[in-house]
Amino acid sequence: MEAQTFTQNTAVENPVIQEMLNLGHEQVVFCNDANTGLKAIIGIHNTVLGPALGGTRMWVYNNELEALNDVLRLSRGMTYKAAVSGLNLGGGKAVIMGDSRSLKNEALMRRFGSFVDSLGGKYITAEDVGMSTKDMEYIHMETEHVAGLPESLGGGGDPSPVTAYGVYMGMKASAKKIFGSDSLEGKKVVVQGAGNVGRYLIDYLMKENAIVSVSDIFEDKIKLVTDKYPSVAVVPADKVFEQEMDIYAPCALGATVNDESLEKLTAKIIAGAANNQLANEAKHGVDVLEKGIIYAPDYVINAGGLINCYSELEGYNRDRAMAAAEEIYQTTLNIFAMSEQENIPTYLAANKLAEQRIEAIANVHRGW
Ligand code: NAD
Repeated sequence: MEAQTFTQNTAVENPVIQEMLNLGHEQVVFCNDANTGLKAIIGIHNTVLGPALGGTRMWVYNNELEALNDVLRLSRGMTYKAAVSGLNLGGGKAVIMGDSRSLKNEALMRRFGSFVDSLGGKYITAEDVGMSTKDMEYIHMETEHVAGLPESLGGGGDPSPVTAYGVYMGMKASAKKIFGSDSLEGKKVVVQGAGNVGRYLIDYLMKENAIVSVSDIFEDKIKLVTDKYPSVAVVPADKVFEQEMDIYAPCALGATVNDESLEKLTAKIIAGAANNQLANEAKHGVDVLEKGIIYAPDYVINAGGLINCYSELEGYNRDRAMAAAEEIYQTTLNIFAMSEQENIPTYLAANKLAEQRIEAIANVHRGW
């Protein structure tokens, strides 16, 4: 049989190449190992600014295409997050296909680590959904290219305090924009999600005499807050948007800014840690703008976790990580200025700032 010629057409019909073309990926690495049962994909979106850093997610996907789409979408998101945060990092992500509760073992993780190592530092991995500190330790046995490690392994430890500080900075910048002062004193803030980030955020808000309410689906999480701050009001999880508030801080789930919530929301500011807050970016990004609500783009103000990982690569220092997270204040103001000048939603302004930085640095070097 005659070998098929690799024409422009066949390339475009291939769903992998097609998606790479659509999203602008540099490289996608498929990892397969029959002995350990490892099936993984590493997506390297862009390395103009530096090595591609992003977590590894272990998840049950219905098929390979679903896994591919996830890794492509997530790795692209990391490029934007690193770029807008001023970090010398590119965007990457990895997915391991399979049930993290039943399939994980030392050999599988170490085999994955050897695949990461084979990329010679072009991709740096970290922990994400379905992965544990122990898994990262196994991966680290096969490669140095791991970030987000616990302090015992020379890493930066829990990133939540840094993330919370960045969110707080983004919230203050939002207040400056909409109220003319960045003071949060006396402002009514509803924090949705009393998890790791939410609780550290509440510490900052209480220190500044904001009027804080909290909501969580678990009593024990709420108790951690109310035991420490008896004045914090508790809001039932399904009544968050009924509250009168100045600031809504989503620190639990994504997609909470949607048609239904926007109908009720009284807040003038949306600033929180959760990823993908806008249910539909194109629609709800415009909706918030038209309602006169300032939306601090999630990936900009929750970049503290990534900033913490980045600090590890330079020899970890918590003070330096916090100082870098503080810059989120100015970045957020820059995004608001661009949004106003160009009359575009803030999420688009953030994307534009990220793209401008990558384009500028591409004149210096074009990638890893
Ligand atoms: P977490 O799991 O510690 O906290 C999330 C909290 O939200 C939990 O207490 C959970 O019970 C609560 N929750 C879930 N559904 C809820 C609902 N419907 N209403 C109210 N509360 C609900 O997670 P985290 O580390 O605090 O992160 C919070 C968010 O920020 C997540 O979306 C995460 O992806 C994002 N984020 C975290 C970091 C980080 O450094 N931890 C960095 C970037 C982004």
